[in-house]
Amino acid sequence: MRHPTTRKVVAFTFDDGPNPIYTPQLLDIFREANGKATFYMIGEQIERSPDTARAVLEQGHEIGNHTYTHPDVTKLDEEARRSELLRSERIILETTGVKPATFRPPYFAFDEQAAATVAEFGYPVIGAVNGAARDWEMPGVDHIVETTRETVEPGTILIFHDGFGDRSQTVEAVRQLVRELTSEGYELVTISELLQSDQV
Ligand SMILES: [Zn+2]
Repeated sequence: MRHPTTRKVVAFTFDDGPNPIYTPQLLDIFREANGKATFYMIGEQIERSPDTARAVLEQGHEIGNHTYTHPDVTKLDEEARRSELLRSERIILETTGVKPATFRPPYFAFDEQAAATVAEFGYPVIGAVNGAARDWEMPGVDHIVETTRETVEPGTILIFHDGFGDRSQTVEAVRQLVRELTSEGYELVTISELLQSDQV
């Protein structure tokens, strides 16, 4: 997914956190680069690591809704689906004081019924273009970097993961990509900043 813009901006997104080990490592990378990112957090993970969630927001990043327990929302009935989004929205608000503004469906599983539920919350649904990088499968730092690099142009949205299992390859790949893209003049922005940046 790419947002049409004339500005040289890229939005890094991180799903499935917060994680007390890997999320802070990513925050360090973005602080050094003067960049911002968006974290699609799982509600029950926020309950386990509320301080990490607060640190993300305090450092100027954005938190998006990624449901409460990470189900395939197309397999839920309407009430269960609404509850997954609402519980997560409330936990984000109670933990950080800020309401999430966008949604990313777990597994990118999405259909018309899910769209109707998400519309009630007013969330834009956020995809990504570098799914082939498969960082969650630990395919190697070089694979993640090279596959992602090919997808980058102004307005690109990138997906990585800071939750579940060993995410050290992700951290290292992101460190390299952030260094590379900022040296090319890219500004690293949050999803909401990207959506507000001018259309072509
Ligand atoms: Zn996820």
